[in-house]
Amino acid sequence: MGRRSVWAEVNLQTLRENYFKLQTYTQSEIMPIVKADAYGHGAIPVVKTLIACGAQRFGVALLQEALEIKEVFPEVTVMVIGATEVEDSDRLIKEGIIPTVFRLTQAKALSEAAVRQKRTARLHIKVDTGMGRIGFRKADIPAILEIAKLPNIFIEGIFTHFATSDQRDLSFARGQLKCFQGIYDELQKAGLIIPIRHAANSAAIIQFPESHFELVRLGISLYGLTPSSQIGGNVGLKPVMSWKAKVSHVKTIGTGETVSYGRTFQAAYPTQVATVPVGYADGLRRVLSNHGEMLIHGRRSTIIGRVCMDQTMLEVTKIPGVNVGDIVTILGKDGDELLTASEMADWMGTISYEVVCGISKRVPRVYIDSNEA
Ligand SMILES: *Cc1c(COP(=O)(O)O)cnc(C)c1O
Repeated sequence: MGRRSVWAEVNLQTLRENYFKLQTYTQSEIMPIVKADAYGHGAIPVVKTLIACGAQRFGVALLQEALEIKEVFPEVTVMVIGATEVEDSDRLIKEGIIPTVFRLTQAKALSEAAVRQKRTARLHIKVDTGMGRIGFRKADIPAILEIAKLPNIFIEGIFTHFATSDQRDLSFARGQLKCFQGIYDELQKAGLIIPIRHAANSAAIIQFPESHFELVRLGISLYGLTPSSQIGGNVGLKPVMSWKAKVSHVKTIGTGETVSYGRTFQAAYPTQVATVPVGYADGLRRVLSNHGEMLIHGRRSTIIGRVCMDQTMLEVTKIPGVNVGDIVTILGKDGDELLTASEMADWMGTISYEVVCGISKRVPRVYIDSNEA
């Protein structure tokens, strides 16, 4: 493969530092969440690094993601925190992947598959306490008790997910926690003891210790990004990924000349333009046209004209000496300047999660490990 002129650097030493820092926030077991290719960072290198840090169990959203991890690390425990299909039951049991169960039919199919394979289906029950996405609700307690009686089933865990744990006001989250505890207590009264309870995502790990229970689900903060603008800003985490490109062309355009599709940028004075070989097919969203910024020579420069599929133009009039081959930082640090996924997310009207997940597959991930350097 030829060297690309756009790439993302993933610093595994920073990942370790974030993991150890976040460990100081909780006594509970940490289950790193590595769905969506570890939030765009690359699931396999991330899992490998975190296993070496002591992580024993990983969470993903899809069966396919679980299978990819199991293929490389057969010994590691992998849980699918999202939905799986009834048709996936045999595969889940065969691979020993923990499914999330929130429908009785799903549990029956898992039980039947486990009986067929003479194995036990280890599963976690999802309860919906206010997220309104998936999960049994309070009225479904009889269904959970019915699942517990199915043959070859082991309910190892029960969990819920917060809708607002990233807000400063935790009153709704406290209500969800109370509902979760209420369901757990009723199950216990009926004789069902479930060893692992979990509820906390990154935001709740940081600011809601009462929700930690036996296990926490650590996602975005592991990658050094804050769950929201309201919390996590002072935790001392560092972004694991930076995104870079090399200038492909530099020129000066005259007053009145225009740049890119639709001629939405018109030069008001002689303007120095740098072309960067990154576009919306790489995940640089078109909404950043005439709006977003990148770093070059440690300074901020503005995107001018529309972001194209594979190329974007920057104004560099006030940044002297920009040449073809110079490094442009789309996300990350250059000198004293820093561009974070949260800042880019603000320009786009979204959250940092979408920025990092959106850096497309054609941007090669380059792994840096200062311990190996
Ligand atoms: C994605 C996800 C998490 C991780 O959330 P972060 O905010 O990234 O820490 C935890 N639990 C569930 C159910 C999820 O879907």
